Amino acid sequence: MASTLALRRHRVQATLSRRTAGQVRVLWQQIDRSSPAESWAALAPAATHLVTASQQAAADGADAYVAATVREQGAVPAPAGRVAPWSLAGVSSDGRDLASLLNVPGQLVTEARTAGLALDEALLAGERSLVRIATTQVQDAGRIATGVGIVSDRVVTGYIRDVGGRACSRCAILAGKWYRYSTGFLRHPNCQCVHVPATREMKARATANAAALPRAYFDSLGVAEQDEVFGKAAAQAIRDGADPAQVVNARRGMSTANVGNRQIKVSNEGITRFGAAGRRADELGFSYRNTPRLMPEQIYADAASREQAIELLYRFGYLT
Ligand SMILES: [Zn+2]
Repeated sequence: MASTLALRRHRVQATLSRRTAGQVRVLWQQIDRSSPAESWAALAPAATHLVTASQQAAADGADAYVAATVREQGAVPAPAGRVAPWSLAGVSSDGRDLASLLNVPGQLVTEARTAGLALDEALLAGERSLVRIATTQVQDAGRIATGVGIVSDRVVTGYIRDVGGRACSRCAILAGKWYRYSTGFLRHPNCQCVHVPATREMKARATANAAALPRAYFDSLGVAEQDEVFGKAAAQAIRDGADPAQVVNARRGMSTANVGNRQIKVSNEGITRFGAAGRRADELGFSYRNTPRLMPEQIYADAASREQAIELLYRFGYLT
């Protein structure tokens, strides 16, 4: 496994998202308590600026990561183009406007107040939402960029999911699994997993490895950690011999596009249904319905062939 390179990629992404979370939190602390939503609306553009810069930084380096991994696997990289990091900055991973997503935490405060929460509690809920959005959007920009790099290079036939360090139970049972190059990356808010680009030769090795990985990860944890990560009942079942993959529902809360607070599954929806997703967000009381952009993972789902996917990645500016 290309574990050192993946671990480095994972660390860069994790550091960037953590730093961004800290920065937006500082902005959140400047909220005027007498009018939180209006006050946040005035601060949100600065948050958008910070998250946008970090998204670009997270997306940057995807080409180099894919190429280095290919070389490590003994193959010669052959990318069809270069990933454009700026194409993934300022947009949320489900294709909608980042600025409007970053207004949501302020609206949440109003909603929480209306529901009867004390101001401090409402502000805390807003702050949690903000941190989740910032963290997830930075990580996602990095992941989507790696995905574009993978599709762009025909030497890469798929990718292996790497959990980096400590993983939640859902990610743990997906660790080491091989996916076809065009498969959208399953993730959840705050997910820190990364792609390991894989050449044809790596597929067999990954498949042989994958079955044993969840159990190995489980066994690497102490009993208290096993309970914490998997839940008490599931952890006990696994200790009693159950297969982790049978006990954990890996799909719960997972999707290929995350907006931080709520997930809108994009992978199997046609473009026309984006409108429905926007209305759904609107029904939930959030003014967050800018026309979504066609995102790379949607392109892979819609494209008839790899050539067409690459052509569309060019056309929409993800490759240059
Ligand atoms: Zn996870």
